[in-house]
Amino acid sequence: MKAVVVGGGLGGLTAAIALRLVGWDVVVLERAPEFGEVGAGVGVMPNAMRALAALGLEGEVRRIGTPRVAGGVRDRKGRPLTYVDAARLDHLVAVHRADLHRVLRSALPEACLVTDTDVRSVDDLDADLVVAADGIRSRIRQALFPTMPQPVYVGTTAWRSVTEARFPADLEIGQTLGPGSEFGVLPLGDGRVCWFAATVAPEGGRSDDELGEVRRLVDGWHHPIAEVLDATPPGTVLRHDVHELAAPLPTFVRGRVALLGDAAHAMTPYLGQGACMAFEDAVVLAAACARAGRDVPGALAEYDRQRRPRTQSVARASRMMGRVGHRLRNPVAVALRDAAMRAVPSRVGLRAMDRFLGWVPPDLSPDR
Ligand SMILES: Cc1cc2nc3c(=O)[nH]c(=O)nc-3n(C[C@H](O)[C@H](O)[C@H](O)COP(=O)(O)OP(=O)(O)OC[C@H]3O[C@@H](n4cnc5c(N)ncnc54)[C@H](O)[C@@H]3O)c2cc1C
Repeated sequence: MKAVVVGGGLGGLTAAIALRLVGWDVVVLERAPEFGEVGAGVGVMPNAMRALAALGLEGEVRRIGTPRVAGGVRDRKGRPLTYVDAARLDHLVAVHRADLHRVLRSALPEACLVTDTDVRSVDDLDADLVVAADGIRSRIRQALFPTMPQPVYVGTTAWRSVTEARFPADLEIGQTLGPGSEFGVLPLGDGRVCWFAATVAPEGGRSDDELGEVRRLVDGWHHPIAEVLDATPPGTVLRHDVHELAAPLPTFVRGRVALLGDAAHAMTPYLGQGACMAFEDAVVLAAACARAGRDVPGALAEYDRQRRPRTQSVARASRMMGRVGHRLRNPVAVALRDAAMRAVPSRVGLRAMDRFLGWVPPDLSPDR
């Protein structure tokens, strides 16, 4: 059985690895002249780590990812709103996207990775299965669902980068919520720190000095935010306006085509689950294909049945998280939110996340 994966991002590569594990021939077609990822961090939540573990990749990802540290949420003066000790936060791992992409690439033979190939139509692709992993602006989704609205701007602009300097190994994971904005730090395995900042802003804003923009946004915020920014080379700061699919798709499947990752369910990043959902998609798709043998329509129906409700519910929860997180600007609302966060024990907060983080991957062997 042969699959063509359109798009060599985190989702497409993971799908290729998973399908090869269950015995499929796979080719990945990537539009860009080289495979790669942007220079920022990505959070790999426990559900996604289990998906990567099913593919034999957990060890390498943990090696390059966040060490065992504590962490929590603070207000901009540094007062804790929630705090989780290292033992219970062990499951939150951030990695440099470029490093993760390299780990995924090295799990695939060179011969199945094809660059410089802009797929304009799936009709001519010689395959039993086409995996459309071509991202939020998916041309394949637009062709298959021409009446669905385009992705929309959600009102948040985000900056991301990774420090050049290394920080002490006990630097904690931290998210700081200010009115209308936030800042997060996630240490990497080698001591560098990836960080993100987000604020409510009109669409399309750009500056010649994005690092300076972030400095102004978090001026006076608590330690170690200024130090993290000082350790960041100015030219490395990425800025993206955040978009999501305007409406949930009625199906992730059309004929022999399966939509996967952002092509299927581009969501806001407030729960850090966009790529994580793509990793889950990949394992579920491969498991369904393994079970269904040559019955590709049956496999795809099963994939849609399992993935659409889950990803669309995570997308809804993520949108909601934005509303009560950095998007809150009214001082009274911010004070109430902060008081509520302080009052709820962290184990209760973690338990509320269980329905997202507790996901367990299906077995990839065909007889299960
Ligand atoms: C600010 C921000 C922070 C985030 N933080 C997190 C986080 O902490 N954790 C998390 O899990 N997620 C996070 N996400 C979401 C995550 O980045 C995405 O969900 C994930 O990268 C999507 O992967 P993908 O492979 O589906 O799509 P993409 O990464 O967009 O890959 C699509 C690929 O397809 C290629 N392509 C496109 N069109 C064609 C074509 N016609 N022919 C051939 N190739 C094509 C593109 O070049 C690209 O390589 C964040 C997103 C943002 C914006």
